[in-house]
Formats: sequence, C-alpha cells, structure tokens
Amino acid sequence: MEKEGDAKPKNTAPRLCCVCNHRRPALKRPKTLDQICRECFYEVFEEEIHQVIVENQLFKPGERVAIGASGGKDSTVLAYVLSKLNRQHQYGLDLFLLSIDEGITGYRDDSLETVKRNEIQYGLPLKVVSYKDLYGWTMDEIVKIIGLKNNCTFCGVFRRQALDRGAAMLKVDKVATGHNADDIAETVLLNILRGDIARLSRCTAITTGEDGPIPRCKPFKFHLLQIPNCILTYAYFKRLDYFSTECIYSPNAYRGFAREFIKDLERIRPRAILDIIKSGEDFRISTTTKMPEQGTCERCGYISSQKWCKACVLLEGLNRGLPKLGIGRSRGLNIERKKDVKENNLTESIESKQCGTLDF
Ligand code: SF4
Ligand code: ZN
Repeated sequence: MEKEGDAKPKNTAPRLCCVCNHRRPALKRPKTLDQICRECFYEVFEEEIHQVIVENQLFKPGERVAIGASGGKDSTVLAYVLSKLNRQHQYGLDLFLLSIDEGITGYRDDSLETVKRNEIQYGLPLKVVSYKDLYGWTMDEIVKIIGLKNNCTFCGVFRRQALDRGAAMLKVDKVATGHNADDIAETVLLNILRGDIARLSRCTAITTGEDGPIPRCKPFKFHLLQIPNCILTYAYFKRLDYFSTECIYSPNAYRGFAREFIKDLERIRPRAILDIIKSGEDFRISTTTKMPEQGTCERCGYISSQKWCKACVLLEGLNRGLPKLGIGRSRGLNIERKKDVKENNLTESIESKQCGTLDF
C-alpha cells in the first residue's frame, strides 16, 4: 500500500501523438491541448481547409482560379495547400498565381522574387500586373508626391482594381485570397470604428463579389494566424518559401492599433477573433440603410457606384497635381451621380487587406 510521503513512480514512457499514437508530438492542439505530431498536424490542417472548401462550395469542377499571391505566409500556404488538395481530392481546378507589383523598391521587388520561386516550386503559372502598367504610377512615385499619410488609401484602391484586372487577363472564374480570421476580425472592427455597419456582412462573407466582375473567396476565413494548429505553424514546419518583411510605407497606425487590440484580446481569450467575426456576420442591416447602387465607371468601365470609380478619381488627382482630390469624403468629381449613399472612398481601402507583412 502506498504510504504518505512515498514518491509516485514516474511515467517514463515517451508521450505520443494523440492522433497516430506512434510518433513524437511536436505541438499542442489549441482546442483540446492534446499533443500532436507534425505529420498528423499537416493532415488535420489540410483536412480542415478541405472541409471549409466543400461545406462552403467555394469552387466548382473545371473552374479557373487565381490565387492572390504576395509572397507572404498566408498566400504561400494557400497556394501550397490548394494545389495539394486540388490533386488529392480531384477538385478539377486550373490554378494560377496572380501577383500585384505596386512598385515599392526594397519590398515588393523582393517579395516578387519569392512568388517567382513559388511558381517553379508549385508548378503554378504566374501573372504579375503592375501599378505602373495599369495606372502609369508606381507607389514609390506616389509616395514622393503625397508622403506617408494616405499612401495606403491609394495603394488599397489600386490593388483592389488591379487584382480584378489581372484576374480578367487570366480569364479566371474566381480569385482565392489568403485572408485569415485575424484579418477579417480586424476589418470588422475597423468598419465598426468607422460607423460602416453596412459593410459588416460583406467583409465577413467567405465569398464576396458574386455580383461584381470576379468573385473572391477566403478559404482561411476560420483559420488563425498565430496560435498552434494555424497557418504560421504550417508554413514554418513545412519550411515553405515565403517573404516576411513589412512594407516600407506601412505606417497605417489606425489599422495597427486595431490589430494590437485584437491580439491583446486573443491573448486573454483565444476565441475572441472568431467571436468578432461571428458578431460581424450576425449584424443585420436595417432596411433604412441604403446600399450603393452598382454601375460602371464612365472613364475606365470598372464597377462603381459613382460616376467615376475611386481609382480614376485618385488618378485624376495625381495626374493634375492635386493628389488630395480623392481623399476624404468630398464628392468632387462625382457630383453628377450624387446619391444618398456613402461614397465608396476610403472604406474601399479598408476592405482590401492593408498589407504590412500581410497578404492581399
Ligand atoms: Fe501598399 Fe500595403 Fe505598403 Fe500600404 S502597407 S503602401 S497598402 S503595400
Ligand atoms: Zn474608373
């Protein structure tokens, strides 16, 4: 009989993975805190993404799909996993990499080198569209004129349109982006802080733009970046080739505060991010809130609820030496199609992923 004070015999058997019960564990699963080995973690992660794709019917057999590829960890993991699942489960997709070159020396030129390597590593054809070709301006040139205050507004509006134009050049049916749960929670919070409740359901939807030129989907909508069982761990364990330097023009303080706030909440309560997304999804827009009527830009033909699309308004300002023309809420050039709706100005840039170290 065990007496008080007797040392308990130590269990010297090595712990084993809770899934295969065979290999040594490499990390803990966040929900159950069970230990899991690398190989089983890969399978669990890939299976989760597969389930998200199937349950949400993100793709149809035979579709051409462009993966928005910035060279960052999210889009690199997406390209790797999507091409793997496409083979494994015979989705029947034609996959492409689509990159945007904003013209930022010392940042995008380097990250594009990563995407070019991914093109070879994953065997996915790459298309790069540049701001210089599309708009006649690089971000380096724009920042020289406007400084570092509104650069991300220009960049976000231009990127959104560039991605659609690149997708049209590739003749794809859909664009898949690497937005993860953290990014979506950030966008929810920013839209609330801006009083832009009308955009909440759109920014949380897993597929958006079905009424626009090319729908976009976010297979990582439910996946967190940092904690185990997540995108970053997958990229690290798999030794994927990604680029992690932050944009040299990334002063976006407001978004940065929102990101830090969410990270603080997550530290106290890991579910906080998914709960913020859930809140965004559950908001109902009151019937008195008018949604913008979609038309096309009279100048470039891109979808717009105004006479000119936001990119054309910003470009006009740049080309006329009045770069502040399209910043803020002045209706300026769009006066003729004035409607009782919120102008699609700065809010548009909030929807596009304001990168920093992030992807599109
Ligand atoms: Fe563009 Fe992103 Fe850099 Fe802002 S942080 S200038 S949105 S690449
Ligand atoms: Zn336009």
